[in-house]
Amino acid sequence: MIYLAFALWMGIGAGVVGRIKGSSFFIWFVIGAVLPGLGLLAAAFYRSDRDEVRRQCPTCGRIVKLHDAMCMSCGTDLEFPEVGIEPESAALQRR
Ligand SMILES: [Zn+2]
Repeated sequence: MIYLAFALWMGIGAGVVGRIKGSSFFIWFVIGAVLPGLGLLAAAFYRSDRDEVRRQCPTCGRIVKLHDAMCMSCGTDLEFPEVGIEPESAALQRR
């Protein structure tokens, strides 16, 4: 019973951390509850999507991740660009 409460709290902790980083609360809650401690650590070290450098698709104008080789919206093959758009997290901090 004590273990169950512990796992639940670990799940909530991992879920909150995952949510802050722009991921799903539920997915990280499950990971944290199944792997107490480990799940929370994984959530803490999980690389946030918001920290990725972005760029704009030249064909449809959609903002995609810098490392994407193909536009998710229109399917255009993307060259590795010389300039990227700053990560969302950096843009948010300046506001
Ligand atoms: Zn596109």
